[in-house]
Amino acid sequence: MDEPVAFRVEKKRARLHDPRRGFAAVEVESEVRYDPLTGNSARICHFAHSGTRPPDLAAIAAATREGCPFCPERIEAVTPRFPDDLVAGGRLRRGGAVVFPNLFPYDDVSGIAAMCPEHFFAMDAVPAQAVRDGLTAARDFLRVATGRVAGDAAYGIVTWNYMPASGGSQVHPHMQVVATSNPGNALRRELAAAAAWRGRRGRVYGDELVAAERGGPRWIGEAGGVAWLAPFAPSGLLGDAQALFAERAAVTDLTDADIAAFAEGLVRVLRGFAAQGLWSFNLCLMPDACGGAREPRRHALTARLLPRFYLNPQLHVSDVAYMHLLLEERFSMTYPEEVAARLRAAWTEARAGAGG
Ligand SMILES: [Zn+2]
Repeated sequence: MDEPVAFRVEKKRARLHDPRRGFAAVEVESEVRYDPLTGNSARICHFAHSGTRPPDLAAIAAATREGCPFCPERIEAVTPRFPDDLVAGGRLRRGGAVVFPNLFPYDDVSGIAAMCPEHFFAMDAVPAQAVRDGLTAARDFLRVATGRVAGDAAYGIVTWNYMPASGGSQVHPHMQVVATSNPGNALRRELAAAAAWRGRRGRVYGDELVAAERGGPRWIGEAGGVAWLAPFAPSGLLGDAQALFAERAAVTDLTDADIAAFAEGLVRVLRGFAAQGLWSFNLCLMPDACGGAREPRRHALTARLLPRFYLNPQLHVSDVAYMHLLLEERFSMTYPEEVAARLRAAWTEARAGAGG
């Protein structure tokens, strides 16, 4: 019988004479892993790295506070408004979150969700409430906005670049919320692979992945129908994490309870990465198209959380290079099983701390 989700690894062995050991002949192992859905490969290699430490975050927060366009005293004056036929009153508010147009739009409908009135939260202190408000505002905005996208399929993309190492240009917590007919190359390929999987096996890949990973070495935890794991083929130099939503395909499908469960899991995983000295990340929710374009369900909504950092902060050495950007080959210095073990410990601690 064929294995439903195959975790394929190729071991590599480089032979060299190591000057650190009197030029003794050594073999250095690395490996190439293949994503079970897409077949995309990722490398796991040894690399001399002395660990990460956050910069002076309080200084960054203080220096950017005064001119911040998303802080409450400035947001009304300096952020744009949507036309009333899209959002009555021009901006959509949910809790402490506000959605307004991106002054530099990526697409026909391109919004920003400022998630909270507070200018800065450290990664180990991001409140679940800010994530909840931001994602609720994004979902409600996309429910309207995806109806305005021309063509067969409308995708509601929600991303969060947190702190400068991620490419985020504003410190104030904010998400990008885009309604588009073009979901991007990676998601387009993933959805095509998911459709082929569904056609071949009659089941949704994400559901089969969760079943295969549950309780295993890459499993982190589960809350309210949202499962967290460390992807078998990693994306980040220091690893990454993935959330999978049971029975959901798009952000617009999420209930308030789904969003609350995701927010709770996300802040636990963020605390786990922050405990390793990480202080910046990219988050991307990977949806199928909204509405009838995706019947029958072929895709489980996922979120990818990718910690970002400077390999060498003094020289501003980026954690992405030709391999990621030009060869589209992911590269990690750490095994997903080790990442998951650390995050599992943080998850359990957080739960013990919450008293249940
Ligand atoms: Zn601010």
